[in-house]
Amino acid sequence: SDIRRKLVVGNWKMHGTHATNEALLEGLKSAGPLPCEAAVCAPFPYLAQAAERLARSAIAWGAQDCSVHEQGAYTGEVSVAMLADFGCRYVIVGHSERRALHAESDQLVADKAQAALARGVTPIVCVGETLAQRDAGETEDVVKRQLSAVIHTLAHCVGEMVVAYEPVWAIGTGRTASPEQAQAVHALLRAQLAAATPRAAQMKLLYGGSVKPDNAATLFAQVDIDGGLIGGASLKAADFIAICRAA
Ligand code: PEP
Repeated sequence: SDIRRKLVVGNWKMHGTHATNEALLEGLKSAGPLPCEAAVCAPFPYLAQAAERLARSAIAWGAQDCSVHEQGAYTGEVSVAMLADFGCRYVIVGHSERRALHAESDQLVADKAQAALARGVTPIVCVGETLAQRDAGETEDVVKRQLSAVIHTLAHCVGEMVVAYEPVWAIGTGRTASPEQAQAVHALLRAQLAAATPRAAQMKLLYGGSVKPDNAATLFAQVDIDGGLIGGASLKAADFIAICRAA
């Protein structure tokens, strides 16, 4: 809807080198003004590079995960304070790859979202069902349960997060949800948020899962879809910019 400025976020996942990032970031900057808000979520070692290259641009940057802990003996983890120290505006939490490959629970994801907000970094909380869950008719139950943990944990701060609906079967598969399928889930999520916060109508709900330049516009035209979380297509400046222009 027009009351919410669209947001397009790139999730680079575990891709890139100094050299390829340099070309990608320059490509993004040279695109000039965009009709939406935009951000890229880089791997931890490259946050400094993103910060340096995107400072004084309209494109924000963020990370793909964070620790729930403030600091301490947590070898290999990265705190939200560190992300804030590198100027991150966003952090993705609960991406399906972390839920699946690192056994992140709904409550851990909620705690990460709370840790982010406590440091002024906006969490992009991912929810979404697997293909087996969709086929079993469990989509609504699954995303409700995932969002419910976050709503209860964030309490009065619920309205400050961004939510990304990412059907697991559409991530990296080239198989995107139809605009109608995505909108149906987004409407459910917004209704669930509306029961928890007066800010639900202002909150950004992103769709993610094989968003490409040729399908972005129809997805973004849905009333409850406020932008996208972009994996594969965020690694090519021209594709990411084209998706931003569709917003
Ligand atoms: C993602 O991983 O968040 C994602 C949406 O990936 P892709 O666009 O490659 O499906």
